[in-house]
Amino acid sequence: MPTLLCVPIMVENPHEALDAALLARARGADLVEYRIDTLFQGEHDEANAKAVEMLVAESPLPCIITCRSASESGGIGGVGERGGYDGDDASRIALFEKLGALDHPPRYLDVELATLARSANLRQKVLLAVEHDKQPRDLSTSLILSVHDFDGRPADLFKKLGALRAEHAARVHKIAWRARSLRDNLELFEILRERDRPTIALGMGEFGLMSRVLAPKFGGFLTFASLRDEAATAPGQPTIDDLLNLYRFRSIDRRTRVYGVIGWPVAQSASPHIHNAGFEAIEWNGVYLPLPIPATGGGWEHFKATLGALLDDRHLDFSGCSVTIPHKGHLLRFAREDRSREWVIDPIAARTGAANTLVVSDEGEGGRCSVHNTDAEGVLAPLRERLGVLSGRRVGVIGAGGAARAAAVALADAGATVLIHNRTGERASELVAHINGLEGPHEGPASVASAPDLASCEVVINATPIGMTGGDAEGESALDASVLGVMDETAIIFDTVYNPPETPLIRAASERGLTTIGGREMFIAQAALQFRLWTGREAPVALFGRVLDETLPR
Ligand code: NAP
Repeated sequence: MPTLLCVPIMVENPHEALDAALLARARGADLVEYRIDTLFQGEHDEANAKAVEMLVAESPLPCIITCRSASESGGIGGVGERGGYDGDDASRIALFEKLGALDHPPRYLDVELATLARSANLRQKVLLAVEHDKQPRDLSTSLILSVHDFDGRPADLFKKLGALRAEHAARVHKIAWRARSLRDNLELFEILRERDRPTIALGMGEFGLMSRVLAPKFGGFLTFASLRDEAATAPGQPTIDDLLNLYRFRSIDRRTRVYGVIGWPVAQSASPHIHNAGFEAIEWNGVYLPLPIPATGGGWEHFKATLGALLDDRHLDFSGCSVTIPHKGHLLRFAREDRSREWVIDPIAARTGAANTLVVSDEGEGGRCSVHNTDAEGVLAPLRERLGVLSGRRVGVIGAGGAARAAAVALADAGATVLIHNRTGERASELVAHINGLEGPHEGPASVASAPDLASCEVVINATPIGMTGGDAEGESALDASVLGVMDETAIIFDTVYNPPETPLIRAASERGLTTIGGREMFIAQAALQFRLWTGREAPVALFGRVLDETLPR
């Protein structure tokens, strides 16, 4: 049975809730969950009890009714963190009994395992409200028996799973906890694989997005998606639009390969937009997700543990990823140190000391992985397009960080003479020494340069964040007008910054009449190579460009 898509709606005003349900239906939801815990006040609240009955009767989609208790530590598909109902249990269960007996009852009633465990009397009442094997009356409401933990994986997870299984009247199990790392998703998938009946297993928070998107791969009963971002009722919950259009939820199946971008922070990355669009365009059964791995303590330990777990999970079909700040060096280190599988290190990754792409293939014993640095190609491809041969060219690079390193090593390997100019002179000297220490076809030795020295270059590349939206040097140009003004009119100015598309440097160079290359072209070139490495097919670069422009502000 396909995984259902459910939109949770916090009910404050029942008429607005019905409007939201109509919208959910129009957007493609299968089900809505009405969270009535802030509406229904408990004992003597006849008016709101009637309003809930009306909601159920007029709901445009089959519905779940949930009156989450404030004592439940959690709230997937609900008001963020905790339930909002602090009335007595007897009143809300009495309401459920009434709803279960309606001519058109809600499709599901969600009740917490903890509520059932609190009293035999309550349990008896809940069982009277729902259909189950021992129910003498003909009811059509089913029980979702749920467990939530907002703090993290329940310490007594197995005990709770055992208690869920022991309750035969539950038609659906739901277990949700706040994911603390990507690894939590793997355990949630294991719960789905070992289910004895329809099961919802979801991770809350940024780390849990994977469990929500990949629910169909592991046979999850349903996943939750919000109507709009600001209405997200649980942290990390995707919007219905993202789920259906960005992650192509309806096309995810058991065989879907999993890709993503590892980094920190990574939630705002444009990469999922372009790669998922690319997979769709070539009908590739893959999905590409943000894969956050924290940077605490440098990030190596997190990276090692998480990547190892993703690679070891043979059910996940983890087939590759992009890697960004601060983990590019970690990927190369992992490839060098890991002994569990066979690794191939692309020479340009080894020479730059960083890798931004992992390709996993199931060939060989334990699988084979390769690591690459496509930033290098992202710099070379646009330059080759303009200049043809790069050998013998004089190229200035501003910066000495990761991007500068990839650019400078790749250019030196292509036979260019590289000049490095950096704010911190020492780092420029280190990079120059690194390049000159490499064996390779360098035309001339690399050297440290002052800003005025760059005026003599045929190409100048800005590989710093100067000019980047939101950065420390937003609105600034990486190269002074006095330098730009004396450059040869055939010179090329290449800014690796891609947001905004026209940086102050690009604007100034265009005004001077020089040829310019923007960071979006580099971004697309490096992504296109990743795409080719993963799929063996040419990337739809025009589509990548359109998607990038739609995704990033202009
Ligand atoms: P990084 O490793 O942190 O290096 C940053 C470099 O920029 C360092 O050399 C640093 O100088 C210099 N820098 C930072 N702020 C500066 C300032 N206000 N004034 C002068 N110099 C400054 O970062 P990275 O990974 O190399 O990335 C650098 C930029 O490249 C990013 O901002 C990104 O926009 C761009 N990039 C683009 C693509 C693409 O596909 N288009 C891919 C990768 C990177 P110090 O050594 O003095 O600290």
